[in-house]
Formats: sequence, C-alpha cells, structure tokens
Amino acid sequence: MNEKFAELKTRLAEIHDIDKIHWVLNWDQRTMMPHGGAAVRAEQLATLEKLRYEKFGADDLGRLLDDLRPYEESLPYDSDEAGLIRVARRDHAKARRVPPELRAAMARTASVASEAWIEARKQSDYSLFLPHLQKNVELKHKYVECFDDADHVYDILLDDFEPGMKTAEVRAVFDDLKKDLVPLIAAIAQKSDAVDDSCLHGQFPVDRQREFCLAVIKRFGFNANSWRLDPTVHPFASNSCTTDIRITTRYHQDFINAALFGTMHECGHGLYENGVSPALERTPLCRGASLGLHESQSRMWENLVGRSRPFWRYFFPKLQAAFPSQFGGVSMETFYRAINKVQPSLIRVEADEATYNLHIILRFELEQEIMEGKLALRDLPEAWNARMKSYLGLDVPDDAQGVLQDIHWSSGMLGYFPTYSLGNIISCQIWEKALAAMPDLYDQFERGEFMALREWLREALHKHGRKFTPTETLAKVVGGPISVKPYVNYLQSKLGDIYGLN
Ligand code: ZN
Repeated sequence: MNEKFAELKTRLAEIHDIDKIHWVLNWDQRTMMPHGGAAVRAEQLATLEKLRYEKFGADDLGRLLDDLRPYEESLPYDSDEAGLIRVARRDHAKARRVPPELRAAMARTASVASEAWIEARKQSDYSLFLPHLQKNVELKHKYVECFDDADHVYDILLDDFEPGMKTAEVRAVFDDLKKDLVPLIAAIAQKSDAVDDSCLHGQFPVDRQREFCLAVIKRFGFNANSWRLDPTVHPFASNSCTTDIRITTRYHQDFINAALFGTMHECGHGLYENGVSPALERTPLCRGASLGLHESQSRMWENLVGRSRPFWRYFFPKLQAAFPSQFGGVSMETFYRAINKVQPSLIRVEADEATYNLHIILRFELEQEIMEGKLALRDLPEAWNARMKSYLGLDVPDDAQGVLQDIHWSSGMLGYFPTYSLGNIISCQIWEKALAAMPDLYDQFERGEFMALREWLREALHKHGRKFTPTETLAKVVGGPISVKPYVNYLQSKLGDIYGLN
C-alpha cells in the first residue's frame, strides 16, 4: 500500500508543479511581462492548464485512488495522508467532468481578455472589453454544462472558490448582513461630516510609500528570503511554494490608502500560504481551504489589525516621520478617524469597511443575472450604474470607475466576488477567538509586535491548508458555521464610536 501511496504522491506533486508554474507565469504576466508577450503567453497558460487537467482526470489516477480506499479508511481522518487521498479524489472527480480542451480554452481566453481589459480600462471603453467578456461567459456556460444540474446555475461557479457553499446560503448570509448594515450606513450618512479624511490626500512619493509599506509587513512576517513585493495594475497575491510568496500593490501618488491598506491586505493572503504546513508542500493540499477563508486573513490584517488604534499608536509616529509635511501636524486620532471614514465611493478595493459589502452584493447579483441569462452583457454598464445609484447613491462618471474596475471578469473569475464579504464576516469570527486566546493582543500591537497573532493563526488555521473542507476548517477555528453577528457587532461598535452613534 505504501508503494501505491508513494506513487499517488509523486503524481500529485507533478500536477501541483504544473499548477504552480502556471501561477508564476500568471504573476509574471501581471507584473513583468512586456505587452508583446501576451498572445504567446495565453497559449503557454492554455498548454499548462490542459496538461494539468489531463493528468488530474486520468483513468489510472482514478484506479490508483480506488486501490487506496482501504488504506485511507485505515487512517485517522485528520492525518495528512487521509486528507491527501480524500481531496485528490474530489479533485479527480471534478477534473473528469470537464474536457481538458475546455479548460485550455478558458485559460487562453482569460489571458487574452485580461490584456484587453487593461486597455479597455485605460481608455474607459467597455466596448473594447465586451467581446472578450462574451467569450468568457460563453465558456462559463459550457463549463456549467459539464456538471449535473445544481439548485442554481451559479452554484457550480461558486464551488470553484468556496467549495460546498450554495448560492442560496450566500444569499441568506447577505440578507442577514444587509438587515444591520443598511441602517448603520444610513445612520452614519446623517453624520457624514463628523470625519474629515483630507489628510489622506496630498503628495506621497512612491518610493517612500513602498518603504513604509515594507516596514509594516516586515513586522507581519514578510522577509526578503521568501517574499517579494511588486507594483501592478490590480493587486493580488501569488506564490510558487510556501517559501516563495509574491505580493503586489499599487501606488497612488496623491492618496496613500491604496498602497498602505492594499499591501497589508495582500500580505494577509501571503501569510496564509506561507503558514501552510511544510509537510503539505507540493501537494494539492498546499493552499488555503477556500477564497472566503483566504479573504478572512487578508481582511483581518488590513482592517482588524491595520485600521485599529493600537496598530497606529505604534506606527503613526513612523508614518509622520516618513511624510512630515503631510502628517506632521495631524493627530493620531484625526488619522485614525480618517482611515475609518465611511463614505459611499466608486471603487471597491478602496471602499470603507461598511460600504464595501454593498459593492460585493451588487456584483453577486449581477453575476447571477448574467448566468441566468436575464442580463445581456451589452447592458451590463447600465445595470451596474443603476445599482450603484440605488445601493450607494452614486453616479458613475465612466466605465473605468464602474464596470471595468475589477480584473475578475476578464480572468474568467465569475463566482469569486461573494467570497470577499464571506471573508469579512469570517474574519471577525476568527478575531473573537484570537482575542479570547490572547487577551493582551492590542497591547502587543502598541509595541509593534504581531508575531503572536501570526503564530496563533498559523496553528489554528494556516497549517491545515486544504486538508479539510472550508466548513470543517472554519469549525476547527471558531467552533461552528459562518455567522454575521461578530462582524456586525464589530462594525456597530467601532463605527458607532467614531460617529457618536452608541
Ligand atoms: Zn483579497
């Protein structure tokens, strides 16, 4: 049996290698590659995708997994070996559903569309992007057809990012969230001038922004031996293994938030991948359990840590030293209130903690309508703008600040957006547990110490990688299923304090 298991490990390691080469090429495309490489890069990515899924869906891999069933049943459920066989079996079953040629077509189309999106966004011209989006969505429909009928067509897309979760469950969670969130945002709107965030706008030389961001994430665990930080159009985190973590950010010369909080966010993703048990390296278990759990980590470091008072008690004097003309005369409290200002805005990634979720709900609804065939893609900008008006009260001046702002639909990532808000919700569930385990956590932050939090997260969550399902993983950390209560309590208490609502 050990021989068969060793064979399985070898084969899975090869598949994982192909996957990670794909990730590195994708990182390269989005940070380093000259535009001229785009057409051939799309073919390279398509080849890798086809190869990976041919290997994953192979008949003899299925036979090997069948042969290993008695061995799996003899092992404890929690063991790495049982986890590997279990997850490989699920991945294999899913891989067999989809022809590798379709996988290749999806990768090729997404790669070409991403390049087209960059240009369309630059020119703020949706018509340049529309034909590429149409191809992506067409392929998504073909992809959905590979699977048995689901309760909702969107379930199949969601499953790629949040395995096991159903559209109806997400709707119920979001309805729950809206119940408390909408009145909170409305109450804050009545006091909108209580917070002045003008100090965040000004002149922030990019090299000093980068230096400061690095100083922050070094405290979180970034080190030059295993990490990189590079600029990009749409920030993301990537990695080739647990000791090669690539994070990206974008700098606005006149607004410091994008790089500052974006870098902490991506570092949170990086810490999750960096924290997976080394024993799981080069296996399909070597990554986060779901995008929702991943986002719980990025949002935690960005918001629960990075937008907290104790964090800035340590870092604000350093920020003042880095940007003396900008912050020299600003009090820490003014700055703290500024970075937590709630104000409906056009761009999701720069949205405050409360209105952020409305950006997600908007996209979640539009994606369902697209997949249900209720919304024609040529009408998407109009539908986007109408919902921005109704949810956030804003007029969208152009498509770059509207429907073209996110990379996801160009990369074929439909079904991804809800995981952002799920991550917000989960982050606060985990946060409650972390605070209970380390009551002096905020004192540590005031001293610039973040290692205890990182190690606690590693032990509670990161090390498991993808060994357990997202539901099992969440239950291990917080003792139960997803619940909006801790998140709502957190927002009500923090924002109520800032806006004098409590
Ligand atoms: Zn993220």
